[in-house]
Amino acid sequence: MAKKKAAGASSKMVYYFGKTKTEGQGEGKQLLGGKGVNLAEMTRIGLPVPPGFTITTACCDSYYKNGKQLPKGLMDEVNEAVAILEKELDKKFGDDENPLLVSVRSGAAVSMPGMMNTILNLGLNDAATEGLAKATDNPRFAYDAYRRLINMYGDVVMGIDHEEFEHAFDKIKTKYKVDLDTDVPAEGLKELCEAYKAVFKKHGGEDFPQDPIHQLQLAIEAVFGSWNTERAVRYREIENIRGLLGTAVNVQSMVYGNMGDDSGTGVAFTRDPSSGQNKFFGEFLINAQGEDVVAGIRTPLPVIEMKKWNKAVHAELIAIKDKLESHYKDVQDIEFTIEKGKLYMLQTRDGKRTGIAAVKIAVDMVKEGLIDEKTAVLRIPAGDLTQCLLPSFIPAAKKKANVLATGLPASPGAAVGQLAFTAAEAKARAEAGESVLLIRKETSPEDVDGMHAAAGILTSTGGMTSHAAVVARGWGKCCVAGAGDVDINEKTKKITVNGKTYGVGDTLSLDGTSGEVMEGAVDRQEPKLGGDFGTVMEWADKYRTLGVRTNADTPEDSKRARAFGAEGIGLCRTEHMFFEGDRIGHMRAMILATTEEDRRKALAKLLPFQRKDFVGIFTAMKGLPVTVRLLDPPLHEFLPHEKAAQKEMAEALGISTAEVKKRAEQLHEMNPMLGHRGCRLSVTYPEILEMQVTAITEAAIACVNKKVDAKAEIMIPLVGTRAELSMLREKVEATIEATKAAKKFDGELDILIGTMIEIPRAALTADEVAQDADFFSFGTNDLTQMTFGYSRDDINTFLPDYLKQDILHGDPFQSLDTTGVGQLVEMGVKKGRSSKKGLKCGICGEHGGDPASIQFCHEVGLDYVSCSPFRVPIARLAAAQAALKK
Ligand code: PEP
Ligand code: MG
Repeated sequence: MAKKKAAGASSKMVYYFGKTKTEGQGEGKQLLGGKGVNLAEMTRIGLPVPPGFTITTACCDSYYKNGKQLPKGLMDEVNEAVAILEKELDKKFGDDENPLLVSVRSGAAVSMPGMMNTILNLGLNDAATEGLAKATDNPRFAYDAYRRLINMYGDVVMGIDHEEFEHAFDKIKTKYKVDLDTDVPAEGLKELCEAYKAVFKKHGGEDFPQDPIHQLQLAIEAVFGSWNTERAVRYREIENIRGLLGTAVNVQSMVYGNMGDDSGTGVAFTRDPSSGQNKFFGEFLINAQGEDVVAGIRTPLPVIEMKKWNKAVHAELIAIKDKLESHYKDVQDIEFTIEKGKLYMLQTRDGKRTGIAAVKIAVDMVKEGLIDEKTAVLRIPAGDLTQCLLPSFIPAAKKKANVLATGLPASPGAAVGQLAFTAAEAKARAEAGESVLLIRKETSPEDVDGMHAAAGILTSTGGMTSHAAVVARGWGKCCVAGAGDVDINEKTKKITVNGKTYGVGDTLSLDGTSGEVMEGAVDRQEPKLGGDFGTVMEWADKYRTLGVRTNADTPEDSKRARAFGAEGIGLCRTEHMFFEGDRIGHMRAMILATTEEDRRKALAKLLPFQRKDFVGIFTAMKGLPVTVRLLDPPLHEFLPHEKAAQKEMAEALGISTAEVKKRAEQLHEMNPMLGHRGCRLSVTYPEILEMQVTAITEAAIACVNKKVDAKAEIMIPLVGTRAELSMLREKVEATIEATKAAKKFDGELDILIGTMIEIPRAALTADEVAQDADFFSFGTNDLTQMTFGYSRDDINTFLPDYLKQDILHGDPFQSLDTTGVGQLVEMGVKKGRSSKKGLKCGICGEHGGDPASIQFCHEVGLDYVSCSPFRVPIARLAAAQAALKK
């Protein structure tokens, strides 16, 4: 068998770009890095790019595979490329007349700003510095460049502490009696270069290398080395950047923006990246280098001002901007330098933009004929649409904010408020007109009133499908969950975070899109839903084949979701209907009842509430299907757990506190999520099922009588065996018939009866289960929990370690684990349809609003996804993208 060659060992390692030749056409970012690909491309289309060459990412991969050795033959190819560069520019490395100087920069396939190493002015040595002084007629400039190189090289290649150089600089400044670096004369800088070389030798153990090729080799190794520094690795972890070979190295001839008042440097976006407006958006600094713009020491000028400074350069830049957009057919983020009145392009890449800008730019570019509708639909990151629907923090204000902690971005939005520590307090203070944030370790259904009233919710434990996260997303309410650094003391009504303590009178700001918790009130902006958003939604609907429903359990949410384009309700969680006002009292009476008769009495009081809710929802959704799930959570969730609340409840029910406590203890389970919940409740207490089905049927009849088209679907949760479903289905059917008879209604109601597939066994035996189901809805929250064996509420205790160590690539409760849990979904669909042709299948777990999961749902042939109202537009767009990607 032929021996497998190390990556990059046999293939081309260096790609040249310049007037002589431009290589690598057709090679992508994976091999040449983003910067490398675009430098070559800009050169190819005739833009003024300083020539140079790119060393591939495959070399970086080999470097690590070979025990940190450059691949064999690389330096030969580098030497060849340098020779071409010298010839093209008529300059020579190390020359004492007109030396060639280069920059050496990293450039991975995905941009990692500031994470890796850069060396400028490489090629300078004692002789070349003299040469540069001569060629530019500017000794100060030449020695300044040299001292910068020794410093940068010492720091990046030899790991010499920057302080050591600073120290030497201070001595020179004292000697010349100046405060600023820029006031040191040429003579002083020449002395400084000698001092820097001494620092280099003392701490680096060798002389500063005078051979430019040697400098270059070590610089290349240093850039490869910077790929795996702790901060670079951490950045990739945070940004979820995976599967790259390494970084490319771009070696490019130097141009200078600091050669006097006819030089400068700048950065720009071809359109405004915040609003998307087609306005050139950039800044430049006269007589400066790139770092000066980034460092923010001097305030740059807007590019429009360039006209006054150099009209020709401004006109050239505008022409280049147009050329770049028409070439790349997207917004570009560019860097440029002007050396003695001549413009050079140093970088271009697709510009990052806000969700609002993404929509506007895509629609404008279709109008301008730059791209077609399909490209526009594919280009907008579906998840970013949320920014179009919710208030957000003003970026400039957020930049200045003091971030105290970062939790999970559980539900997007921007909330500002004072702290409230119980749901009752949040409700009371919100009713009094205050904006409050509800701060809880974790929320429970008891807290819903306070959660609803609060401007935002912060929890210190709990994951992306914890109660707080799911409920908040449903309402479009901002929520940061699982912020473990926030220590909550409910008794003293204080939180401690980052060594600081905050109480009820303090204000914090929550960013539900990033998970950040910030001190004080950060300024916000309201969303503006323009016509462009509607246009994108129209296009999305044209191309998608997957249906989009919503998870909603109130008429208001249903209406909102309809307005966002929901085509039905895929999950109405009835448990949320049992908390408001008097209802919780009846619910608790039902739970406390010791006989069926007493239970039925309490349920009879709940029935009118349920019926009214359903009439409201059916009416809001008129004509669209509404899937109502029978009661699902374990009953203990409806009982108070604190002594005072238990006492209050006992008084309300006219029983002793001991009785309440006893029942709460009886209902206590070791693993309530695996306990007495879902269809198991209906098996034990069929009267609960009867009450709910009666309410649904009566509501449907009431709608028919009002000429409202109601399409009810009854869904039985947590089924694991066909026997459970067939028995409960019979009960549902019998109850529907009994209700129709009692109401003397003999028309057709067409109520479907289906089940959730959320237990692995149900997926495995879906062919059996389907025989008693009119539809399936995959409950991927529970299915994920039970397939992995991870508690959906407590995953955050270990998830960060799992992500850090690459055991998991993401939170499986946020984005469907397509390889594992996905198999069960796929199998469930196939098996279900094998015994019931055309069985309607949907998904109603939180994954139904996640673009990557939606892609999977499309691929396995689901009929619809269902998600919270605010994610409906995201799902519509993601469904269209899934269809177009096929
Ligand atoms: C699910 O398990 O995916 C689901 C939708 O039900 P719940 O989140 O209410 O358990
Ligand atoms: Mg479930």
